[in-house]
Amino acid sequence: MDLQNISGVGKVTLKKLKELNIMSIYDMLFTFPRKYEINYLNNIEEKELEKTLILKIEVTSKPKLFYIRKKLTKLTFSAKIENFKFQISIFNREFLTHSINPGEYLVATGKFLKNYNSFSASNIVLFSNFQEGIKPLYNIKEITDYRIRKIIENIIKQDYKITDNLPLFIKRKRNFESIDEIIKKIHLPEKISDVQKAKDRMAYEEFLYFSVRVETIKKLNQRVITPKKNYDITKVKSLIQTLPFELTHDQKSATNDIFKDFNKNTRMNRLLQGDVGSGKTIVSLISAYAIVTSNYQVAILAPTLVLAQQHFQTFKRYLNGIDVKIELLTSEISQLEKKRIAKAVSENKVDIIIGTHSLLQENINFSRLGFVIIDEQQRFGVEQRKVIREKGVNPDILMMTATPIPRTLAISMFENTDVSTIKEKPSDRKNIKTEIIDNDSLEKAFKVIDKEIQNNHQIYVICPLIEKSETRNQISVEEAFKIISKRFKTAKIDILHGKMSDEEKINTLSNFYNNSTDILISTTVVEVGVNVNNATTMLIFNANMFGLSQIHQLRGRVGRNDFSAYCFLMVDNILEESERLEILEETNDGFLISEHDLKLRGPGEVFGSLQSGIPSFKFANIITDENLREMAFEDATEVLKSKDEISKKLVFKVIKSIDSYNLD
Ligand code: ADP
Ligand code: MG
Repeated sequence: MDLQNISGVGKVTLKKLKELNIMSIYDMLFTFPRKYEINYLNNIEEKELEKTLILKIEVTSKPKLFYIRKKLTKLTFSAKIENFKFQISIFNREFLTHSINPGEYLVATGKFLKNYNSFSASNIVLFSNFQEGIKPLYNIKEITDYRIRKIIENIIKQDYKITDNLPLFIKRKRNFESIDEIIKKIHLPEKISDVQKAKDRMAYEEFLYFSVRVETIKKLNQRVITPKKNYDITKVKSLIQTLPFELTHDQKSATNDIFKDFNKNTRMNRLLQGDVGSGKTIVSLISAYAIVTSNYQVAILAPTLVLAQQHFQTFKRYLNGIDVKIELLTSEISQLEKKRIAKAVSENKVDIIIGTHSLLQENINFSRLGFVIIDEQQRFGVEQRKVIREKGVNPDILMMTATPIPRTLAISMFENTDVSTIKEKPSDRKNIKTEIIDNDSLEKAFKVIDKEIQNNHQIYVICPLIEKSETRNQISVEEAFKIISKRFKTAKIDILHGKMSDEEKINTLSNFYNNSTDILISTTVVEVGVNVNNATTMLIFNANMFGLSQIHQLRGRVGRNDFSAYCFLMVDNILEESERLEILEETNDGFLISEHDLKLRGPGEVFGSLQSGIPSFKFANIITDENLREMAFEDATEVLKSKDEISKKLVFKVIKSIDSYNLD
């Protein structure tokens, strides 16, 4: 049955549908409503303040029209429901002025706000035009919802058959209805709970497809052979002996995970996640050293110059006196030096190379690249991760992140990824006392800063902008500098932001590192990894401009030692803006915060646009639909084993969709 044979689909509509890529009745049936309008009349006894109600009312007065300001008018009239009398008001409906007359029955949707004397309506229709029930809204450009509904109703009357993508044994096990039923419920629901049930099945289907894909990739990846690394465990142990601290339990177990991977002849693909300050660097350092003892090269990719330099210093310090050749490659070194390093790398005369995006350049070729470490991996896109990986022959990969990613999301973002997690922080880590403040309580933060400076500790002040902006009413580094210098007359204050030259940045930071600066006013450039142990206090202006995980990362710059640490989150309006930020006052657990953030904003927002690995589900929500996700993962192995036609077809479709890139 073709679309053009359906009554209601004329030439014009057909053309419009084709433009929307709706070519067949199946496409039409799988064009699901964006949302539903639920139109059931409420009884006046159900009234509650602030609750949206749909009321059938009788008009008792002519309406009055008020002009409030340009483009804003208000219409008010009195109404009653039996003996209950009240005022109704609605904005911008001057065209209704003449159709509302005493004695007329209307249906008004809206709320009683402060009391039951006045009802603020968002929609008003004549009772004779009101249709009770659930109305699917398709929001398709150029074709009205009414027409789409008619077309779909007419299709559903026809004799058609949709192929069901779920194997029968799954439908039985999970109590799912047939796809035909689901389609009916989505387009012509009787109860809103029907819609939810139908959507759950669709979401499950997406998860099932996804989990079969993950399982398949896992299997295929197991076949990616890479020689096991014969590291020298005695040397590794003696390095660990020389560290100035004992590794935490979690650091040890993460290191063990990594070494187990080295011992296998399949490629390692591991995500090491741990809150800021949990000590990931030392784990990567021990692993890198092990690889060097096995006579392979290591590449460490860092997102910023500052981080790359810091790693370089850390690696040189801890590997001091050991025969390991370490180089730093960043954009700011001279061409001549770059050439020298490139040559040395290609001749296996460098063991560990640490660098920024410069490492990705074509002229960097390794002789024996065996291990790639990507720090703050969320800062790199899929392509960049691929470029660095392809500089070796199936090198082992360790990605690190301080924004904890729920396990399934990690699996989906990096396909076949194992995850190690550092939960506990080094024991001398203090919780950071966090407080939301506004302009009136700013002085309180300043008093703490006074005291900290007296104790020779250091302070970060973070601003959302570099320069004053005409359009955005937020505090810039420039303005903060004025405010802070006025208040702290004797303090040594410096600024840092992305528009400064690399040389200026390095200067500023090294002054901060060696405690020649008391207060560093900065944009979020300090967010990733800057490690100045003597810093104890952070003040963040316009805190509401930042994501929760981002603030948590930022405040991780302080509290890196024995001293008490403070973080002040400054907002303009504490009543309106503090709700979202409160979780930061309540907990220092980055996992909780990240989860909260993911629920509020979704993975796309939290991890940014670089992370194109985030699967785009139409129905499923990878964070909140936990149950369905777990069911699907549980069922995937059965589907992979099952011999029925539908399972086989599903698996085949999955395999076809996996491109070669995932398998290299
Ligand atoms: P992150 O996980 O944020 O990258 P780092 O690796 O930069 O954290 O570690 C933060 C600080 O903690 C560093 O100064 C590091 O020397 C210190 N550190 C790491 N592990 C330990 C430990 N087991 N005990 C004490 N301090 C540690
Ligand atoms: Mg780090």
